[in-house]
Amino acid sequence: MILRGATLIDGSGAPALRDRAVVVDERRIAAIVPDRGPHDEVVLDLGGLTLLPGLINCHVHLCLSGEADPSRTLTDETYAATVVSAVVRARRTVEAGVTTVRDLGGREYAELAVRDAVRAGVIPGPRVLCAGRAVCITGGHGWRLLGRQADGADDLRRAVREQLRAGADVIKLVATGGVMTPGVDPRAAQLTLDELRAGVDEAHRARRRAAAHAMAEEGIAWCLDAGIDTIEHGVFLTEALATRMATQGTALVPTLVAPHAIVEGGLAAGIPEFAVKKSLALRERHLEAFRLALRAGVAIAAGTDAGTPLNLHGSIVPELALMVGAGMDPLHALRSATSAAARVLGIETETGSVAPGLAADLIAVEGDPASDVKALDAVRLVIADGRTVLNRL
Ligand SMILES: [Zn+2]
Repeated sequence: MILRGATLIDGSGAPALRDRAVVVDERRIAAIVPDRGPHDEVVLDLGGLTLLPGLINCHVHLCLSGEADPSRTLTDETYAATVVSAVVRARRTVEAGVTTVRDLGGREYAELAVRDAVRAGVIPGPRVLCAGRAVCITGGHGWRLLGRQADGADDLRRAVREQLRAGADVIKLVATGGVMTPGVDPRAAQLTLDELRAGVDEAHRARRRAAAHAMAEEGIAWCLDAGIDTIEHGVFLTEALATRMATQGTALVPTLVAPHAIVEGGLAAGIPEFAVKKSLALRERHLEAFRLALRAGVAIAAGTDAGTPLNLHGSIVPELALMVGAGMDPLHALRSATSAAARVLGIETETGSVAPGLAADLIAVEGDPASDVKALDAVRLVIADGRTVLNRL
């Protein structure tokens, strides 16, 4: 199949290219060639559209609903209902042009079954990298819904090994308090340095990356001491910590839209009061942390934390728009959801840009997302891993 007629943004940060056609062979990008006809293969004419790599969302929870009180939904619904919903959310996600997601905490490994079913071509969805259960301290952030509680270095190792046994692609450690668990403080560290070291060591020995939910300053510092790969949220990041992240090559996945959606919806939308209060208290600091990271040259990868209150599965544009609003250049924001995200997840030889040999993860949108990221919501074509999942040409 040949995709022609579009302006090509290859995801690398290179200027947009005209007069290029992308040749897809089976599930891979075979070549990028001069756009001169006639072609002797099936041609999709993308006249006037912009062609880009499929987008990457580095932080989602396929098992969480994104309703006003997702915790309640999850505890009220049966496991079977969660599975059905996760399948629907996967389809909605890929139809929005997001062809890869990293799931950082699910329910009884349902999200791993979704991953495998997508991979096998049974259901439409994005490529899913899964963490399984998030490893937290007893009573720590996430313990009620997504967590595997573990205390002490030995138990950390066992908890990580359990996720690996279940088939996890990445390990999620909960380093600090967070918003969605009542009674825990986002400014408080939770896993100790010793525990973080054990968890990261187990992940790395198994050749997996380790992501940490980390809001509190002390917890972020310990994560960096332990050699974590990504800091999720990073709310109380300081200039010194941002510099360390840039030097060590630790990436930030800010998820600005998560507290934003909670504050915007508020109590009126039915969001639990504890979540609204905590989000109000940290939203500005969160934006400041993002700016600090941006200034320090930290690798930033886009993630929405989809599934948290009023933070729906699908488009990643609300997050990109907030990043641009906080000072990021639109092209940089695009990279954070394509090539930079792929590098952060360690899948840059598989996806994240339009280049020969990579998976055919391609989207075509109206307008110019390099000057306005909102153009990414006008999706007309989505090819995920070589399969056409949406065609509105
Ligand atoms: Zn999350």
